[in-house]
Amino acid sequence: MSCTKLPFRCHEASVRIRLMLFPQLLKSRLSRLATSFVVTFSLLSASPAHAQRVNVVRDAEIEALVADYVRPILKVAGLNRSGIEVVLVNDNSFNAFVAGRRIFVHAGALLQSESPNEIIGVLAHEVAHLAGGHQHRLREQLARAQTMAVVAMLVGVGAGVAGAATGSEGFGRAATGLAMGGTEMARRSLLGYQRTEEITADRAAVDYLNKTKQSGRGMLKTFDRMGRDLALAGVRIDPYQVSHPMPRDRIANLEELVRKSPYFETKDPAGLQLRHDLMRGKLAAYTAGPAAARRIFKDPSSIGMQYADAISTYLSGNPRDALAKIDRLIASQPKNPYFHEMRGEILIKANRPQDAAKAFGQAVKLAPSSGLLQVGYGQALLATGDEAQISKAVSELSAGLTREREYVNGYRFLAQAHGRLGNIGAAELASAEERYYSGNYQEARVFAARAQTKLKRGSPEWVRAQDIINSKPQGR
Ligand SMILES: [Zn+2]
Repeated sequence: MSCTKLPFRCHEASVRIRLMLFPQLLKSRLSRLATSFVVTFSLLSASPAHAQRVNVVRDAEIEALVADYVRPILKVAGLNRSGIEVVLVNDNSFNAFVAGRRIFVHAGALLQSESPNEIIGVLAHEVAHLAGGHQHRLREQLARAQTMAVVAMLVGVGAGVAGAATGSEGFGRAATGLAMGGTEMARRSLLGYQRTEEITADRAAVDYLNKTKQSGRGMLKTFDRMGRDLALAGVRIDPYQVSHPMPRDRIANLEELVRKSPYFETKDPAGLQLRHDLMRGKLAAYTAGPAAARRIFKDPSSIGMQYADAISTYLSGNPRDALAKIDRLIASQPKNPYFHEMRGEILIKANRPQDAAKAFGQAVKLAPSSGLLQVGYGQALLATGDEAQISKAVSELSAGLTREREYVNGYRFLAQAHGRLGNIGAAELASAEERYYSGNYQEARVFAARAQTKLKRGSPEWVRAQDIINSKPQGR
């Protein structure tokens, strides 16, 4: 799917990560939801020769939901004021990890979690790694994850090796073990490595869940599944399994802790489960199509299935039917901003930009703090071609970008809007920002210099252009 056809969401992304962490990333079909997110991994960029582009998902609905999942956990972990953000990675495998001040969650982990509690448990465990300062080790684990997966395959089984394999020390021992010709040797030498860190994180995670009055049952279910899958030869190994050893005694310890909790039987609030279902429906529709959604939602009348169906219909190029379907959902939940957002996207596809702008305007009204929705609104206003609407587009796009400074698509629309209004200096500055946040610093400086010749010397815009001109390439 080309990016120009889906300007709302799609953009070639560039998070630079050292080493081949996720070989399957670029093959993911989630590109329709994917967008750019330039991250300089100061922790991970030691070896630029191994830098790799990966895709990040930007979606207002999913981001808001995951933020709601992680916020209470961060609070009880004492990290709520430390500017930690969650980044959704465009990858269908199960994984979650921390790097710097970011928690990375694969779309696959969200899609595979049947309840909020399952993914919240994983997030709690990752927050515990952050709070415990484990990220240095984890980085090492991730850097070697793929190598270790290969080792696991070489030895044929994987259970012990992949399950416990992490870190340079562990890798060294694995290599020794293999050189000595024994799977069992490798397995034994690796088991136990970093067990303390994982057990510490499990304990802290259960503590966070107790403090937020949530059950640890979902975490147990997920970890138990990870442990079992690894025990079966030939089963695909998710990156999370490689970076998180799940030996039986660890699961047993966790189970004991989780069952002791007074909140063991506590269920997710119905409203949260509903949002979770909608998220899974959306992800299924974008990543795997309607058949995948039908496998998730056994009941065809469930709202998650209806949402997946509406989105699939839209994606299959049938905006008229998609509109009827999304309108039924809006009738059932008139205050859901993301249904209105989807309606806007469908109307854009139906070549009805005026109506699309109205739908996006409604979405923004219902979720006024979402920068992504504001950018969507701005883009729909721009598409009307009407001068007054384009002026409004400039203010919506600018406001959205104040909240989402690194949202590259937004700058592209802003440049177009300024261009249409004849503000060439501002248009070139927006293009400079777009290049800058895409990691294309050389072009960014060219655009910034061009913008400066048209901007008032010393104005905030001129100063920003100067900042871009002076910027040092990051992470290279
Ligand atoms: Zn862990």
